[in-house]
Amino acid sequence: MTTEDLSREIILDHYQNPRNRGRLNEPTVANRGHNPLCGDEVELSLLIDDGRVDDIRFSGRGCSISQASASMMTELVKGHTLDEVDSDVKSFTQTMADRKSAPVELESELDALQGVKRYPARVKCALLPWTTLRESIDLYRHREPARDGLDGLVEDCADSP
Ligand code: ZN
Repeated sequence: MTTEDLSREIILDHYQNPRNRGRLNEPTVANRGHNPLCGDEVELSLLIDDGRVDDIRFSGRGCSISQASASMMTELVKGHTLDEVDSDVKSFTQTMADRKSAPVELESELDALQGVKRYPARVKCALLPWTTLRESIDLYRHREPARDGLDGLVEDCADSP
């Protein structure tokens, strides 16, 4: 089997049997991404605790590339710290952006997506889940404190003499 055939099988397998598909009931952060060129939609929900992605789910619809990429991404980042997720996203984005051709042998399932680089218009499909993940982490890092106004400050003092 050629690398291209193998890549195709891996992508189709993730598309037809997506991992971590669905929505978390009480996500720490949820976010949606859209690729107007292809009509792809990816929605992510994450459970983040103590700087680590404890759980992640994706839903959405779109081409096989975008949905397979989302499925592989959730497998990779689940259990990773936010710093690790930062470098996961950065390294995948750079790999998809560089002009090197796809590897002759796949080192991981993720490498299957590199074949898409031969079709520049589809690179955005592969990147959509990752862009959405980076935005989700940004949202999480910059979100407002849970309590509005002075409530939290007042409670801090409740036990003071
Ligand atoms: Zn697409």
